[in-house]
Amino acid sequence: MGDWFQTIADLDATAEEAPGLAEVVVADLVADGIVSAERTDCGPGADGGHPPGSRYAEAFDGPDYGLLTLGWNGLFAWWGRSVVDTGQGGGEVGCPHCDAIESYNEPLGAAFIEAIDAWYAQRPSDTVCRHCGRTIGINDWRWADGVWAFANLGLTFWNWPPLRNDFVAGIGRRLGHRVRLVAGKL
Ligand SMILES: [Zn+2]
Repeated sequence: MGDWFQTIADLDATAEEAPGLAEVVVADLVADGIVSAERTDCGPGADGGHPPGSRYAEAFDGPDYGLLTLGWNGLFAWWGRSVVDTGQGGGEVGCPHCDAIESYNEPLGAAFIEAIDAWYAQRPSDTVCRHCGRTIGINDWRWADGVWAFANLGLTFWNWPPLRNDFVAGIGRRLGHRVRLVAGKL
């Protein structure tokens, strides 16, 4: 069984403000007891992550399914231009306006791949749908394999039970930005 993650991606943070925002929001989560201040080897990442704190169970409903016994159970805040996807590949994308769906090998899919390249290169990444002519923003595409996000800042929780909607929304309020929860498996 693989490890699963939930990433709360900040859709609005700029590259410049992301490190400072990460520090602030992690400090808040430490103060709330959701995670510990210490850094341990509780997930992937050379600098370690923050293991569950004394009030970690407030971030989700129901049992924790042995979270504290798992090797990977930490929070990792990260920044830097990233594509957050489900880790399951995928092969179809859609226009959010007209619902046209195409595989990566067709023109709309190719436009999506170009949009990703542009986003990484910090070029304009809006795309015009070849079916309806409307503009598709990088974070507005529909993906057949689940939710994606393009973000400069994210909080990744490893193996935590599904995070409460109000917990995720609270992170968005602290950041003052739109956030999107992306779940997937490594
Ligand atoms: Zn369209």
